[in-house]
Formats: sequence, structure tokens, C-alpha cells
Amino acid sequence: MLTNTKIILKKAQANHYAIGHFNINNLELVQGIVQAANNLNSPIILATSEGAVKYAGINFLYQLAATASELSKVPIALHLDHGKDLNVIKQAIQLGYSSVMIDASHETIEKNIQLTKKVVRLAHQKGISVEAELGTIGGVEDSIKSKNILYTDPQKAQEFVQKTGCDFLAIAIGTSHGAYKFPGKAKLHQQLLQEIKQKVTIPLVLHGASTVPLSLVNQANHYGAKLTHFHGVPESEIKQAIRNGICKINTDTDLRIAFTTAIRQSLTNNPQEFDPRSYLAEARNSIQHIVEQKIKLFGSVNKK
Ligand SMILES: [Zn+2]
Repeated sequence: MLTNTKIILKKAQANHYAIGHFNINNLELVQGIVQAANNLNSPIILATSEGAVKYAGINFLYQLAATASELSKVPIALHLDHGKDLNVIKQAIQLGYSSVMIDASHETIEKNIQLTKKVVRLAHQKGISVEAELGTIGGVEDSIKSKNILYTDPQKAQEFVQKTGCDFLAIAIGTSHGAYKFPGKAKLHQQLLQEIKQKVTIPLVLHGASTVPLSLVNQANHYGAKLTHFHGVPESEIKQAIRNGICKINTDTDLRIAFTTAIRQSLTNNPQEFDPRSYLAEARNSIQHIVEQKIKLFGSVNKK
């Protein structure tokens, strides 16, 4: 059975580690992520964006995650990432997702509060927890585009949580979505995170937290990719953010790069091969490998 996201996050919060939120679109991603979690005895959150729902269909994604949780010895939650369309949010609640995100961060704070309250009411009726966002995270993710990062204000965050009753909060402390995260120095606003942590008692969420490992980018480029000017969040900044109170960390870009790079490599090395299982198995292995690295970085090994 799928696990309540709030329960695993509260446990992480109390014990100072973070749970990985990993975006899924297909079977091989689910299997790679879930194998990593089982290998390391770690709870995880599988997440579907509205883009993923559009690509694969919400029923397929729900069933993949539900089946993975049946076959696993570790807690697995299913989360709707960046819910903007109320119909998709309602569908996820109806199906039995563990949690949904309402992202109204680009609206005025009044509108954000109003929409978040509405989703909290719908979700809590079914025992489903809700992530909201205050401030804006930069970059591009599916249809979510934002040029500027608008840092989260600690005082407003406190009021927002009190007024909306959301269960965990995504904050903007300098990360961006996508592979190009920092025009200048790759640093997060750790001091601001500490200030938010003092005012907000619910679990805090870090979006746009891919590290974009240089070795992976080089490997992709070696096999014909043209990935340039990529900058991720340094691992040291992630560790510091966990120490400062982050307990859910969203990762998508690193998985995309790992998946695609493995396929490039496999096809280049085996030009006679035309069985999709051969290169998809490589992609799945690569996902397992990178998710294991993330679980170790987040400190959730043996926390099931
Ligand atoms: Zn995000």
C-alpha cells in the first residue's frame, strides 16, 4: 500500500534527514528508483508532474506506483508534483495519491492562500497531505517557467502555513528547475532557510535540487549529446540545507540525464541491437545507481 507522505516526512524531520522525491514517467524509472530504495532500506516519494500525467496518463502512473509499493519492503509514497490544474489535483485525490502539491506560487499571496486552502480541504477529507509553495523557484520544469527567483519571506511563510493548513511547504532559497541553475556562484541562501525554519514548523521542501554531476554530463557529451553550461546544486549545499531543516528533496533533471545518457551509450556501443529491452535495461540500471547516490546524500539509508 502507498504510504502517507506526511508520516515519512515527519519522521525525517524529527531525525534530521531528507526523503528523496523522484519524478517518474515510465516503468523503467519506477523500477530503477524502487530497486534503489529497497537496496538501501529507504523510504521514497515517487512523483508525477502534470507533464508526466499528460505523457503517460494518471491511471497508468498510479498503478505503476501502487504496484511498486505492493512489491516493496520500504515505504513508498506517490505525490502529484506542481499541481496547477484543479481537475488533475482532484483526479489524484480520487485515485488515492499519498499527497498532492498545489502550486499557486505565481499568483498573489491572497490567491495562493485561497487556492491552497481549497485543495487542503479536498485532500484532507481523504487523508491525503498537501504541499504548497511560497516564493518562486526559477528555471523551467515542464510548463512551469519562471525567470526570477522570488525568495520566500519567513514571516509570510508562517502566516501562509497558519492560514492554509498545508502539510509541507516548498520554499525558494535560490534553486531553479532544470539543468542550468546558477548564472553565478552555485550557492543557496542558507541563512534565509534558517530564518524560515524558525518560523515554520511543518516539513520544508527543496525543489530544483539536482546536482547535475559533471561526470554524467561529460559521459553524455562523449556519446554525442550537446549539453553545455549545465550547473547543478553542489552536494555540500544540499547537505547544509538538510542540516538547516529541509526534509523533502525533489530530483528530476539528474534522472533525465542519467536515463538518456545510458541509452546513448548503449545504442552507440551496440549498433546492431534493436531490442528496446537492451537499452532500457541499461537506463533502468543507471537510474538505480544515481538514486542510490541520492539516498546516501540525503541520509535516508536504513530509515524505513
Ligand atoms: Zn519543482
